[in-house]
Amino acid sequence: MRWFSEWRRARIIRRATFDEKLWRMTLERYSFFRSLADTERARLRDSVALFLHEKAIHGAGGLEMHDEMRVSIAAQACILTLNLGLDYYRGWVEVIVYPDEFVATYEFVDEDGVAHRVHEPMAGESWPRGPVILSWADARDTGYAGYNVVIHEFAHKLDMLNGDANGFPPLHADMSRDAWSRVFAAAYEDFCVRVDRGEHSLIDSYAAESPAEFFAVTSESFFALPHAVQSTYPDVYRQLALFYRQDPASRPARMATADFPAATA
Ligand SMILES: [Zn+2]
Repeated sequence: MRWFSEWRRARIIRRATFDEKLWRMTLERYSFFRSLADTERARLRDSVALFLHEKAIHGAGGLEMHDEMRVSIAAQACILTLNLGLDYYRGWVEVIVYPDEFVATYEFVDEDGVAHRVHEPMAGESWPRGPVILSWADARDTGYAGYNVVIHEFAHKLDMLNGDANGFPPLHADMSRDAWSRVFAAAYEDFCVRVDRGEHSLIDSYAAESPAEFFAVTSESFFALPHAVQSTYPDVYRQLALFYRQDPASRPARMATADFPAATA
């Protein structure tokens, strides 16, 4: 039935209507869209049309969703799967968007067997086989260079394709599991030492939380600040390039045009 789903998807793409100005504004807003080649932009647009058809993006906490928000979130999500295909986001449908940081309540049992109940303000959250939850304030503005909550949460989604988020997404047949483990384990260990020493890094120190966060944060930087990953951890950059089948550092940097200024911090 593969031909049927391909035929159905082709029809959805043909019928999708985009506000041209809105689409161009979205592409101008983020550095990783501005540097895309025309063929990549066209593929991203098809992918966004499918994403908007297959996923339900709801506002919560009083947030009214507009096309600008839906297209912006879908486009950022689809940059990860540009060369992987939208099936990488299979098994779930919902994206929930709050106006700003939301308070998540969750429980966990620590090493001593003590149960904790935590209330924490969050910019984003991904549930296995469940929704992605985002703060629009964070999704709209990239904040400091390299920070991107949408890429972060959708990287967790890819990581969860083969079980819990652990920094080990399903690799392609031409990739080495040993190389991935070795490279990421060494970089993670090094990063934790640097964070403990209080060293400044262009990679967000939140990456030191766990191997899963290290993968999500380096994925953010891979797209939003590729040269930072490439210069700090070239082997991690290479593994991410193999996984995402993209080489963002090789794309020409393009400045935002005056008509559509880039998001500010
Ligand atoms: Zn995370």
